Amino acid sequence: PAEGGGVLEVTGVTMRFGGLVALNDVSLTLAPGRITALIGPNGSGKSTLVNVISGLYRPSAGRVVFAGHDITGLADHQVAAARVVRTFQDPRLVPHFTVRENLLLGAHRLQRHSALAALLGLPAAIEDEARHLATIEAVMALTNLTEVADRVMATLPYGTRRMAEVGRALLAHPLAVLLDEPAAGLSEAEMERLAQVIRDMKAMGLAILLIEHHMDFLDDLVDDVVVLDSGRVIYRGDIAGMRCDREVIAAYLGT
Ligand code: ADP
Ligand code: MG
Repeated sequence: PAEGGGVLEVTGVTMRFGGLVALNDVSLTLAPGRITALIGPNGSGKSTLVNVISGLYRPSAGRVVFAGHDITGLADHQVAAARVVRTFQDPRLVPHFTVRENLLLGAHRLQRHSALAALLGLPAAIEDEARHLATIEAVMALTNLTEVADRVMATLPYGTRRMAEVGRALLAHPLAVLLDEPAAGLSEAEMERLAQVIRDMKAMGLAILLIEHHMDFLDDLVDDVVVLDSGRVIYRGDIAGMRCDREVIAAYLGT
């Protein structure tokens, strides 16, 4: 659902929560058609960085620029409207809606006020809904959700719900996508499917940030790696280089 384009540049981002420095002068670049893994121990600031980029937190210092536009401190729906879209570590789906209905909510993310109207079947929203449905079918095919389209979300296995979270993000027509541990709790087969979806997103030219710590999953998938430790970037480069980096081994791989 997206054409490529748009470098996302994080420059010198610091995020303080009271006395805690969750991010300390973090810089990274996401490029179209590239998959950047963000890894690091628990509590190292990975989700906080996604929260800053996606507009949930306003950073204490630093800039987020997407496709030449400063998006620092914009509200989350404005960042999504700029086509920088994130998923949540814990899927945020409506449990008593079907898969298709949840994806419809994603499609309406850019016009958030029509989402409820569409689900209630209000006339003004019907035309929008028709336009979105074709895209939804395509995204469901891509994410392997077609067979469960009419199932109620709460009745589905965790891995399927995680995939629906990714599908919902895709329906917001992202150019940059931030995936917060999308593989957590997935079976081997589900992980393979997810890897294929992420490759498809790369082929569509999306700039991708992938938070993940299964090295087997990352090995054949990612172009660049950024390692955080206590809110600081301690490594930036490729996976092979990361594996033999002393600081990374001490902070992360050794544990
Ligand atoms: P990760 O995703 O790498 O496991 P997080 O980004 O969730 O780590 O957290 C980084 C640090 O920031 C942790 O110490 C966490 O407790 C803290 N933190 C995150 N969000 C908040 C918040 N809203 N208020 C206070 N502290 C927070
Ligand atoms: Mg996290």
